[in-house]
Amino acid sequence: MTWKIPFLDLRVDDPEERRDLLAAVEAVLQHGRFILGPEVAACEQRLAAACGRTYAVGVKSGTDALFLGLKSLGIGPGDEVITASLSWIATANAIRLTGATPVFADVGDDLTMAPDSVRRLLTPRTRAIVPVHYTGSLCAMPALLQLAQAHRLLVIEDAARAFGAWDHGRPAGAFGDVACFSMNPMKVLGACGEAGLVVTNRRDVYERLLALRYNGMHQRRLCHEPSLNGRLDTLQAAILLRRLSDFERRLARRREVATWYRKHLKGLVDVLPETAGARSVYYLFPIGTDARDALRAFLAARGIEVQTRDADLLPCHPAYRDGYRAEFANAQRLIRRLLCLPIHDKLTHDEVKYVTDCIWEFFKGGRPCQ
Ligand SMILES: *Cc1c(COP(=O)(O)O)cnc(C)c1O
Repeated sequence: MTWKIPFLDLRVDDPEERRDLLAAVEAVLQHGRFILGPEVAACEQRLAAACGRTYAVGVKSGTDALFLGLKSLGIGPGDEVITASLSWIATANAIRLTGATPVFADVGDDLTMAPDSVRRLLTPRTRAIVPVHYTGSLCAMPALLQLAQAHRLLVIEDAARAFGAWDHGRPAGAFGDVACFSMNPMKVLGACGEAGLVVTNRRDVYERLLALRYNGMHQRRLCHEPSLNGRLDTLQAAILLRRLSDFERRLARRREVATWYRKHLKGLVDVLPETAGARSVYYLFPIGTDARDALRAFLAARGIEVQTRDADLLPCHPAYRDGYRAEFANAQRLIRRLLCLPIHDKLTHDEVKYVTDCIWEFFKGGRPCQ
């Protein structure tokens, strides 16, 4: 038997899901309110409630969510905003395009922003921090919030990868002045196209976001500040509403895969620990090993697609290499050893077992006996 295990499989091939999604699309075609239709408001309400927030504003992408979230708090030229060296490039770009200066903090062994590094990078111009829930587990938010409070910094959560995660009952998105989500198809809660969301409890910020997502217009009449058009469209909202209804079931499957990996890779590779009282959504399942490149080739030859994600740290991209303050020694050390395993809800037991068997074979030269 030849195996082919893709890193992700975004096709909608479950007949029931397909039927429901088509029905959701059909309903939108029927009412014709393609922009800010009723599904957008319903989706915003459901997602705000899911992360314990008063307000949610649907936008066109996670990148827009970050950019507009930062703008809604008045962040701009002259401000420094500290984020993690390890993230998707959108985090840096969103900060930069407000006119503020991104500053890159090192990460701890959990792959999220290290409070110590943030502290070293503070200056009188530091205005905000943008912690990134990198793998789909929450950052150590209590320590970061404490630091932010002590230095009067705004907090913008980059929760793009973490919808549905929590820590001691507090969900991703519930921590910052604003929190930003992406629902692009790769994310754990994904649309069938681009989608994003900003949540907040502050009414002033909410109202500003409503204007910012539509050319800075207030009540469709007067523009108070220049902005672009970044509204979540109704079709994607309709799809997200349907996907929310079986989010927990799919997440449970993803978590079963993670539990299997964790159990069967123990002693072979480094795996991030599960924090007691916390739930990860496992956007990524990274493993750490000094034999990273050989293992990747070994698995590829056996039909298993593994990926090195975000291998170029944010301050190492040409756009940010010169003139930006950064700490990333630990991030560099960690990322060189990391490989991300396929993790999604379509993986079968046999496939997941095959992945761990192959890794076992790579390290031990034989199949595990069970
Ligand atoms: C995906 C992602 C984004 C951007 O989201 P898009 O919807 O792709 O624009 C931002 N930050 C992180 C950490 C992400 O993973």
